[in-house]
Amino acid sequence: MGKMMELAKKVDLAKVMKLAETVDLGEVMTAVAAMPPDKLKAMMVALKSGGDAAPQGEPPAPNGDFYGFADVLTDEERAVLARVRTFMEETVRPNINAAWQADTTPREMLVKGFQDLGLIGFIFNEDGMRTPRASLREGFLTAEMARVDVSTATFFGVHAGLALWSVVLGASDEQKAEWLPRMLSMEVIGAFGLTEKYVGSGAAGGLRTKCRREGDTWVIDGEKKWIGNATFADFVVIYARDEADQKTKAFIVRKGTPGFSVEKIEGKTALRAVENGAITLDGCRVPESDRLPKVTEWRVVADILRATRAGVAWQGVGCQIGAYETALAYTQTRRQFGRPIASFQMMQDKLVHMLGNTTASFGMCVRLSQMQDAGTMEDEHASLAKVFTAARCRETVALARETLGGNGILLEHHVARFFADTEAIYSYEGTNEINTLVVGRAITGHSAFV
Ligand code: FAD
Repeated sequence: MGKMMELAKKVDLAKVMKLAETVDLGEVMTAVAAMPPDKLKAMMVALKSGGDAAPQGEPPAPNGDFYGFADVLTDEERAVLARVRTFMEETVRPNINAAWQADTTPREMLVKGFQDLGLIGFIFNEDGMRTPRASLREGFLTAEMARVDVSTATFFGVHAGLALWSVVLGASDEQKAEWLPRMLSMEVIGAFGLTEKYVGSGAAGGLRTKCRREGDTWVIDGEKKWIGNATFADFVVIYARDEADQKTKAFIVRKGTPGFSVEKIEGKTALRAVENGAITLDGCRVPESDRLPKVTEWRVVADILRATRAGVAWQGVGCQIGAYETALAYTQTRRQFGRPIASFQMMQDKLVHMLGNTTASFGMCVRLSQMQDAGTMEDEHASLAKVFTAARCRETVALARETLGGNGILLEHHVARFFADTEAIYSYEGTNEINTLVVGRAITGHSAFV
């Protein structure tokens, strides 16, 4: 009886009467009494926070372009990218985990999709010249692909970047006439063979693959490693050191050429939907007409790498957008302690950190591409963007992965792939150390390369 009196004293009858005007108090009591203690606790937390724990209407849709960088594009450009998003979401996303698991490139699906979308025409004119805003377009395009799958962006980048740039900058007019139209329509797929088993970062001047001229034929001997698309490419541009003048030369080596063999590299833990090949060149004979005559020294290779390095920086942007948006969507639906995990302060801290990384990387790459289009981008500009976005990307995908808890390591939740693939972004097209040295040399005037 005493307890009842204590309780009655706490109750404000005026408030009870007011409440009774809007809810059935009997029903409320029955529902509350039936609640398990943890739910009851969570409800009290929500009530004490003035109802803030409950979402105010529909949560906003995840948007990795927080500062609206896409505003620098035209309506037509945005329309192309919207079609790319549809393709990536509706065709690539449902199939990519299986391909990633099977360690194989779903190239028929990708080539058909890219052909239908006319993607190379978005960047190149029919004569192989880049459109005036090609770099900006290519950047956004790369990010759009990487937002769903980085392997897809890499498959495209090896063909439409590394291989195409090799032909555009290195080929004669006759060679361009033979290869460019079919490369632009993606009827043939190219690959780029620079890295070797024993020579990675030190490729400038250090190539062990050798070539020697015998009349109108070149004989190439050596090994190449990590060559993307090489297992199925119609040709690989092979870079080799001329025994006569020690300078770098480049050759179009066609699929099936005697002395040229490719073995698929198995057991990768990143970019598994890109097929990388280990190439052996054993007395491989290539006609002089298939040597790229404008590749006369390392500087031309450096030009190619500078151009494509920007594309890898953009992969780091797309990968972060994908990881952030996936993590944010997950936090809205995943509930713990009776509330969406998006409502927890520590979860919001992670999401904001991811968004900050993504936005900074995005802004840097937009400016980089504008400089590239204006012809003012130097090696150090591309290298800084690659260093920065790759490092931020590593942090962002790790945060996204942990945001999903255990589900973060399951492929089906679409964050584990980003987590794994970022390791390739970090190391290819110049490792972070090498790109750091490029920037360091530019800003100090001292080369710290050894
Ligand atoms: P190494 O050069 O052996 O470096 C090992 C470590 O030493 C790195 O941390 C590096 O930063 C560090 N290091 C090296 N030198 C220095 C220095 N002077 N100072 C400080 N640190 C240093 N290549 C192609 O030609 N075509 C492709 O299509 C292609 N695709 C690829 C796809 C994938 C998935 C990967 C992983 C690689 C690909 N590569 C390709 C190769 C890639 O560009 C090389 O892996 C990269 O250049 C690094 O070379 P490396 O792996 O031999 O490492």
